[in-house]
Amino acid sequence: MTTISYGKQSFELGEGQSVLECLTKQGVPVPYSCRSGVCQTCMMQATAGIPPASSQIGLKESLRLRNYFLACLCHPTEDLEAAMPDDMHVSVRAIVHKLELLNDEIMLVELECLTPVDYRAGQFINLVHDSAHVRSYSIASVPNLDKHIQLHVRRLPQGRVSGWIHEDLALGHTVEIRGPTGDCFYIPGKPDQPMLLIGTGSGLAPLYGILRDALDQAHAGPIRLYHGSREQHGLYLIDELRELESRYPNFSYFPCLSDVHVPAGFIAGRVNEAALRDNPNLKGWQVFLCGHPEMVKATRKKTFLAGASMQDIHADAFNVSHL
Ligand SMILES: Cc1cc2nc3c(=O)[nH]c(=O)nc-3n(C[C@H](O)[C@H](O)[C@H](O)COP(=O)(O)OP(=O)(O)OC[C@H]3O[C@@H](n4cnc5c(N)ncnc54)[C@H](O)[C@@H]3O)c2cc1C
Repeated sequence: MTTISYGKQSFELGEGQSVLECLTKQGVPVPYSCRSGVCQTCMMQATAGIPPASSQIGLKESLRLRNYFLACLCHPTEDLEAAMPDDMHVSVRAIVHKLELLNDEIMLVELECLTPVDYRAGQFINLVHDSAHVRSYSIASVPNLDKHIQLHVRRLPQGRVSGWIHEDLALGHTVEIRGPTGDCFYIPGKPDQPMLLIGTGSGLAPLYGILRDALDQAHAGPIRLYHGSREQHGLYLIDELRELESRYPNFSYFPCLSDVHVPAGFIAGRVNEAALRDNPNLKGWQVFLCGHPEMVKATRKKTFLAGASMQDIHADAFNVSHL
């Protein structure tokens, strides 16, 4: 039987139980989101004992060497003493440089990092509210084009971190971010490959970054962006996207509305259905899917069945976590 110690308490791990499952069941407030080793919000550090290599997948070498691990992937074979990450090693401080509503519920948050952060447009960072509440937000800015990191944060009803961002964050405040991480970004080297970008709500954030990055890198193949919401006020950056469409002949923008009343200039129906109806053969395409978890899951399968190869399908499901 292996034991996991946290603070002054020790717990026995149940059969097949991860460190995250064990600690949260015992009431230890470990932040988490995806529970599958992707978002890295449940990162911890072993202060005694060695975490298994399988719980360190995707972590930077400097963190692996300091025995950081992902609690959701950690099934230790020896006793471990675990602590929350030491901010000095994993976090970067950033100043809130701009806050601007993009629509009724989505806020543009611009962060000026006090230490340079090497990122790709479309990856995500983890924003620390407090030690128990760490949330992932995708990066809409492009390092080559934008001075600061830009996020699009949608306010959820009673959402703890998105509520704090919308209500309490102010210009000049200092926040802590971790990362970046994730593999949803433009990969140069195939400039003629067609690209299909599908997103709902604030799922536009990574897609906007990927799109502008691809255009900036002179991507020549067609790029089609489908952004969906129920009603028109759920969409945003419409003028900016139409302006890019008029400037780049290889880029097309399709704003989709699933409501019954659809004004002229918008496409009626669900965003993923419209995208697949217009583009039924995706053999050789690069596909990016971001936003609502159910949309992302269903569309990943459908784009694969339409011919896109698994390695060309990049997806970030905006899962929410509950403690
Ligand atoms: C890879 C990734 C990238 C992401 N990128 C973005 C992005 O670019 N933009 C963006 O806006 N979001 C993004 N998200 C989602 C984001 O990380 C947060 O999950 C989101 O902001 C909600 O956090 P919150 O603390 O505000 O809400 P939470 O407090 O976590 O609550 C979420 C919702 O659940 C409800 N809820 C809370 N507790 C319970 C409970 N016990 N039972 C039932 N319901 C409950 C709340 O009312 C709320 O509506 C991303 C997520 C992932 C995984």
